[in-house]
Amino acid sequence: MQTIQIKDKRFRTFIPEADILREVGRVADEITRDLDGKNPLFVSVLNGSFMFTADLLKRLDMACEVSFVKLASYEGVASTGKVKELVGLNEDISGRTVVIVEDIVDTGLTMQRLLETLEARQPAEIRIATLLLKPDKLQVKLDIDYVAMKIPNDFIVGYGLDYDGLGRNYRDIYTVID
Ligand code: 5GP
Repeated sequence: MQTIQIKDKRFRTFIPEADILREVGRVADEITRDLDGKNPLFVSVLNGSFMFTADLLKRLDMACEVSFVKLASYEGVASTGKVKELVGLNEDISGRTVVIVEDIVDTGLTMQRLLETLEARQPAEIRIATLLLKPDKLQVKLDIDYVAMKIPNDFIVGYGLDYDGLGRNYRDIYTVID
């Protein structure tokens, strides 16, 4: 087990790279089995999913496309507080098979917002692929088609996920100690 320090927090190894890649490979096989021939468009949500997206797409043995988007937060004009708007999607997705690629689904609110935004553009179907899912935190009903790994509620970093901007570069996934 390896311990790392990021700012005020210590983390320990939680999921080693080999285990991550095995599960990413399994998800890639499932996606290939389900979507081969449909030329799906993978919509990768930055920043956290860049590493997962790269490893996943390298393992897909089929024709596909990828686009990278961001959910930008801005203060809403009404009292709703923060609103998240999708930026960066230039493709016409109407009639297409779209696969959202996320790093982690926690409460599910981000994914719900993303689904609403994409559905308005009338794709043929939308599937969700997430590297990680915290099932006990989920607050909304979501049909998640592909989940690489389910994890407990603890805060994690590495393999694309950050703590205050740091830690995305680690190959393994780490969980917080204190
Ligand atoms: P949700 O809207 O599902 O609650 O939140 C999803 C977003 O919260 C993720 O895309 C990610 O940016 C962030 N997040 C949730 N849990 C964690 C975690 O354990 N570690 C890190 N680094 N980010 C997390």
